[in-house]
Amino acid sequence: MSHVQTTEADELALKASIQPVDIDYASIRATKKQATVFGAPKRKLHRRRLLKNAIVILRLYRTPGRVLRILNSIRKRRNAIAGGNNVYKVVSIGQRHFWRINIPAWESPLFDAFLSSELHRLEPHHQKSHRLTLTYLAITKKCPLKCEHCFEWDNLNQKEKISSANIHTMIENLQSIGTTNIAFTGGEPMLRVQEITHAVQKYNDRSAFWIITSGFNFTEENAANLKAAGLTGVVVSIDHHDPHQHDVFRRTEGSYRDALTAVKFSIDNDFVTAISTCITKANATREYLDEFMRFARDLGVGFVQFLEPQPVGHYAMKNVMLKPDQLNLLEEVFLSYNQEESYRDFPIIVYHGYYQRRVGCMASGNRMVYVDTNGDFMKCPFCHEKSGSLLDENFETTIDEMNTESCSSFGSFG
Ligand code: SF4
Repeated sequence: MSHVQTTEADELALKASIQPVDIDYASIRATKKQATVFGAPKRKLHRRRLLKNAIVILRLYRTPGRVLRILNSIRKRRNAIAGGNNVYKVVSIGQRHFWRINIPAWESPLFDAFLSSELHRLEPHHQKSHRLTLTYLAITKKCPLKCEHCFEWDNLNQKEKISSANIHTMIENLQSIGTTNIAFTGGEPMLRVQEITHAVQKYNDRSAFWIITSGFNFTEENAANLKAAGLTGVVVSIDHHDPHQHDVFRRTEGSYRDALTAVKFSIDNDFVTAISTCITKANATREYLDEFMRFARDLGVGFVQFLEPQPVGHYAMKNVMLKPDQLNLLEEVFLSYNQEESYRDFPIIVYHGYYQRRVGCMASGNRMVYVDTNGDFMKCPFCHEKSGSLLDENFETTIDEMNTESCSSFGSFG
C-alpha cells in the first residue's frame, strides 16, 4: 500500500510512537577515516593535476590560438562559478583524490573523460564527449522507511515498474550518450542490491556508480560484493546527529543505527563516502551545523551534502523552505568549512544550492537528469515535472528538450 493516504493525525501518532533504540557504537564505527588534504600537500596535488589538464588541452586543441581561447574560457568559467571561493581541500582514499562527489578521482580515465566533456562545452573539439555528468536512477518504489521529506512519497510502495532488464537497458541508453556517473536511488535501492551489483560489474568501465541509501540492508556481505563489482561511492542519508531525532525524522526505529552501519562498511571498503543531510528550518542554526559537522568528522566520512527542504512529495503543501537568513547561514558554513585552516580536518561540504543561485542549475538535462521509479525523466529530484521515458528510443531528444526548457527556478548553467 502507498503511504499517500496518511493524515496529519497519523503522522503525529507515528512520530510519537518512535522509541529510542540502544546502539552498540563500538560495533558500528568505521575502523578508518577518509582523510582531507589541505594547504601545501593539496597545492602539490593540484599542480600535478593542472599539468595533466594542460596535456589534455594540448592534445585536444593543438593550435596556439585554440589553446589560448580555451584557457581564457576556463578562467572566465572558474570565476563565474567560484570567484575567489574555491574549495581548498581534497579527500584522499588510498592513492585516489576526490574534489567533489560525482566527479571521478583525479587519477582516473573517467576524470579525463569528464574534463574532455567540460572542455567540449566551452570550445567544441574532435573527441567524443559525455552528454551527462550525473544521472540519478530511481530503480525501486519499495522502501521500509517513511521519511518526513521523501520526494518519492507519492510513488512509494506501489507496484514495481522497473524490471531487471529495464535497469540494463537504461544504463546502456545512458552510456550510449556518455554518462560519467550513475547513482542508484529509489525507494531504497539496497532492496535490489543483487541487481545493482551485477549491473555495476557489467558496466563500470564506462561510468562510475554510486548508491544513495538510508543504510537499510547495507550489510558487510553486500558491501564486499559491491566492492568486488567496482562501486565508486555511497551517499548515506543522516538527518540529525542525535539517534532518536534521526529516527523520528525517518519515522523508523533503528534507522540511525542502520545509517551508521552503512557508513562503517562504506568507509571500510574505501568507497567515497558522503552523508547527505536535509537542513530543516529547526536545524538551520550555527550551533546545530557545527555540531553536525563534528559528528561527520568523527564518523570519518569524506563529504557532507547539504540539502534544502522543498515542498514536494511528503513535504508537499508544507511551509518547509528555508528563509533567506538561513540560506545565508548555510552558505557561510559551506565556505568556512571548505576554506578555513581551522576546519582543515573536517569533511568537504557539497552544497548545490550555493552554485545554483550564482550560475544556474546543472540539472534538467544540462549535465544531470533524474529518472523516477517509472523510468520517466524529471528535471531534478525536486522539480516534479515529468518528461519522456529513458526506456524510449528517442530518450536523447527528451534530454535535449528538458535542457532547452531549462530549470524554471534558476535557469541553466552554461
Ligand atoms: S529512505 Fe528515501 S525513499 Fe525511503 S522514505 Fe526515506 S526518503 Fe523516501
